[in-house]
Amino acid sequence: MATRMRAIRKPERAPGLVVEEIPVPEIQPGEVLVRVEAASLCGTDLHIQQWDAWAQQRVSPPLTLGHEFAGTVVAVGRDVRHAHEGDYVSAESHVTCGMCFHCRTGQAHMCEQTRILGVDRPGAFAE
Ligand SMILES: [Zn+2]
Ligand SMILES: [Zn+2]
Repeated sequence: MATRMRAIRKPERAPGLVVEEIPVPEIQPGEVLVRVEAASLCGTDLHIQQWDAWAQQRVSPPLTLGHEFAGTVVAVGRDVRHAHEGDYVSAESHVTCGMCFHCRTGQAHMCEQTRILGVDRPGAFAE
């Protein structure tokens, strides 16, 4: 498996984006590694590209963008039960804790631990 990959990133607190080579992520026990095969642009990505007022108060570069994608699972963490190597997947881009009151009562959108792909943690505009 490759150890480095191309990614579309916001390297610093300024307008613009760059394509950079970065390490392929090492997955945690509850994560999967996805080979991204398709991704789409959202308005959020344009805000970050333009570095407008919203992006300036919300995003902390350096950051890999992208939260809308599909691809194939190529590695599975030891605690993962619902995805397998070779699965073709997409993702709900709000990564929540799964443990709090909101998460356990079907209201994960209110989880205080929510981390959004491509906004709060590395995103999917990467191989
Ligand atoms: Zn979006
Ligand atoms: Zn939660």
